[in-house]
Amino acid sequence: MAPAAHYFMGGVRTDLYGRTSLPGLYACGEVACTGVHGANRLASNSLLEGLVFGARLAASLLDEQLSPPSRPDLWCGDLREERAAAEALVEERLAAVMGWWAGLVREAAGLEQAAAALDELWQVFEYAACRRRGLERRNLLLLARLLVEAALWRRESRGAHYRADLPAPDIGYRKHLLLARGREPREIPVE
Ligand SMILES: Cc1cc2nc3c(=O)[nH]c(=O)nc-3n(C[C@H](O)[C@H](O)[C@H](O)COP(=O)(O)OP(=O)(O)OC[C@H]3O[C@@H](n4cnc5c(N)ncnc54)[C@H](O)[C@@H]3O)c2cc1C
Repeated sequence: MAPAAHYFMGGVRTDLYGRTSLPGLYACGEVACTGVHGANRLASNSLLEGLVFGARLAASLLDEQLSPPSRPDLWCGDLREERAAAEALVEERLAAVMGWWAGLVREAAGLEQAAAALDELWQVFEYAACRRRGLERRNLLLLARLLVEAALWRRESRGAHYRADLPAPDIGYRKHLLLARGREPREIPVE
């Protein structure tokens, strides 16, 4: 038995029209970070996140000249059966690692164990994943690693989850952490 998540404050940063910093990648709903929520979710905001932002995104796309996304060349290499089995195992272990160490109650030691376990799992993807399932599993693993990285940085946390090792509030953490590929992590103060 495990606690179920009522809401997940997604971390994909978007503007008010669902655009991310990657051309052609849009997000709305739970996955998006629009700035509507603070450290915790405001009740019944799914209507806003899903319907209002969803409609804004759809309407703005109608005005855009969309070109088909470029497709990266996928090289399958020698995808042996044991590699496919290892990929499947990643998904199973990923859920256990995240549920156990990066769930509602967190602490530094557990998050560090989670980071080490995820880094070990990442070795499965040191070759080019080529099938859709493999790519999805690799993306899940990457997102989990980023989540753990951010959770380790945010020593003071309250809302949907909390740090058992730092129960007292620390106003120094009234800021966001922005992680982007190829850039240094950036701290953005909450206005
Ligand atoms: C028990 C419960 C009660 C709730 N009550 C309320 C409430 O009273 N009021 C309120 O405002 N909110 C409520 N919520 C929250 C609300 O239901 C959600 O925030 C909302 O449904 C999220 O919508 P979404 O479209 O962002 O995500 P989802 O509804 O989770 O949609 C994501 C979709 O993506 C699909 N998907 C996932 N991975 C892939 C992939 N790799 N490829 C293709 N598709 C994929 C999934 O199958 C799913 O269909 C409740 C949630 C729960 C669990």
